Amino acid sequence: MKPAPFEYHAPTTVEEALSLLAEHGYDAKVLAGGQSLIPMMNFRLVQPAMLVDLNNIPDLAYIRPDENGGLRIGAMTRHRQVETSPLAAERAPLVHAAMSKIAYPQVRTRGTFGGSVSHADPSAELPALSLALDGKFRLRRQDGERWVPASEFFISLFTTVLEADELLVEASLPPMPPRSGWSLQEVARRPHDFALMGVAAVVTLNEKGLCEGARLVYISAGDRPTLAERAAEALKGQAPSPEVIREAAEIASAQEIDPSSDIHATAEFRRHLANVLTRRALEQAFQRAAENKQEG
Ligand code: FAD
Repeated sequence: MKPAPFEYHAPTTVEEALSLLAEHGYDAKVLAGGQSLIPMMNFRLVQPAMLVDLNNIPDLAYIRPDENGGLRIGAMTRHRQVETSPLAAERAPLVHAAMSKIAYPQVRTRGTFGGSVSHADPSAELPALSLALDGKFRLRRQDGERWVPASEFFISLFTTVLEADELLVEASLPPMPPRSGWSLQEVARRPHDFALMGVAAVVTLNEKGLCEGARLVYISAGDRPTLAERAAEALKGQAPSPEVIREAAEIASAQEIDPSSDIHATAEFRRHLANVLTRRALEQAFQRAAENKQEG
């Protein structure tokens, strides 16, 4: 099927794009990598009257060091740019490592960081990883801008706090604290498919080797990326033993996620996967944190 007719604009500056969005509001849709939007338009699930194509705005594609030791990623940065960036590998290893799990090289060459986050698919990696790292997003409109933490950005399935006249222009991913470790564990039907279940873990140890903090975020576990706060609380102050890890996995998978059943997996199977993957993720993350101990 072909998309419904639409007007097409290809601004070359952010200001020009914001002015088009201010003028046309909900009639306009932003085009980034097009990997989700174009199929949806072809199926006529969305029928924007106008497309505002960001592909001719070079200012939106960059990976820069942040003053706080973290990373700034421009909205139009392709997945492949992050995947091949030594700076991303050094400053946001969790995000860098995830890139090879996202779809196929063809999709990664077009798909963008900002597009993935704005699309807010609960099965996607980058929304979950932004939340696991406690990142935030810079949203611009014609008359101003605001920073929104990832914890407040995702509202529900494919829905964020972005207003019709706003553009997500960049993501800020803070560095992990000293003595931290991370892990991303997923199960998909085939390599590079969207995950049936996934979990990203970031843990921090104190000087005595006890858990100082943990962030566990689940993929395909509800209508948005899901942060398991009670499981994190159960880990706090504890030595990362198999029993403690098992209890956290139990809490998260039984109480804190809300997976649904579909043709690929039942909700029950997804909870089982969440339990197993949480244990694997925590074991690996604590192991990495222990190896980073001397850096603290
Ligand atoms: P687009 O499709 O251009 O836009 C998506 C939505 O975001 C649209 O509503 C658009 O208006 C809005 N938007 C885009 N940019 C902005 C912005 N800067 N500000 C405000 N709104 C904006 N993803 C995964 O995470 N994991 C996977 O395993 C995976 N597998 C895939 C497999 C296939 C076959 C395909 C086609 C895609 C897959 N994806 C996967 C998704 C892909 O990685 C893209 O990230 C995703 O499609 C959106 O990015 P995009 O740049 O293509 O955005």
